[in-house]
Amino acid sequence: MNDELLAELRSHVGVRIGPVLAWDRVNETMIRHWREAIDVMGSELSAPWTTPVTMLPVWLMPGLNGQPAPGSDLRDHRAIMKVLEREGYRGILGTNCEQDYERHLVPGERITSTYEVEYVSDRKQTKFGAGYFITFLQHFHDEAGALVGTMRLRILRYAPIDESTSQGDETNLPPPPQPAMNADTRFFWDGVKRQELLIQQCSACGFLRHPPGPACTRCHSLEWTTLKSKGEGTIYSFVLIHQPDHAAFETPHPVGLVELDEGVRLVAPLRAEERDRLNIGGRVHAVFAKPGPDYRMPFFRLSVGD
Ligand code: ZN
Repeated sequence: MNDELLAELRSHVGVRIGPVLAWDRVNETMIRHWREAIDVMGSELSAPWTTPVTMLPVWLMPGLNGQPAPGSDLRDHRAIMKVLEREGYRGILGTNCEQDYERHLVPGERITSTYEVEYVSDRKQTKFGAGYFITFLQHFHDEAGALVGTMRLRILRYAPIDESTSQGDETNLPPPPQPAMNADTRFFWDGVKRQELLIQQCSACGFLRHPPGPACTRCHSLEWTTLKSKGEGTIYSFVLIHQPDHAAFETPHPVGLVELDEGVRLVAPLRAEERDRLNIGGRVHAVFAKPGPDYRMPFFRLSVGD
């Protein structure tokens, strides 16, 4: 079974797809936007630009609609990924990216690219699950066909370890990004570490508020205390998040707007396994996952039928 899959994966190695054409000629507008976005304006804040060599892959990006520019080879250069997804290797981790540059590009020229899979590893066991390391190789050419650069992208595509084999609410998925914490929200996350869901309550008028903030939204008092929620409520609304696909979450990842019985609403993850049974008004209760050694995260699960 694994041998057959490996043979199928390796049938993609060395198949060169391209040329894929850049949507735009190298131009000063995109260069300036890129430099602003990555904050590399520095003291060179004046045209004419030297095209940053590290911007090379940008010229071949397909854009928000995912379409290659007209005239491009339309074969799917990521077809190997579909094979892996079909077989349950849904997790993805970037491991490293190497770029080589032959020369600086100049405004006005149009770049093309070819894509191939350079390497597929044997099936490896990793702490995230079993999977394959794949190296994608991309060559960039100018209009005369001369090589201007190459990029190698290595990824691990893996089958996340089955949650049902884990203990209780602990999961073997990699830890999710930690929420931002500040002086206003620290009490909430400190409470979560103790498996308590704390709601901010105005000391002057008793009004409950969430998310936390420095002042009462009703009477503007700066004095507050906390109320420990029973952690029970109803789903006021929810969404299934498909993008971005993050290794720490099963996709689609349900996130709820939960109305606690105390009266405030909060945004929190719901259980991925329960996503097909979620409904507006459904009763839920808070549980506290421990995705990392120093970190707990509240999420909600359905109270009926669990
Ligand atoms: Zn108040």
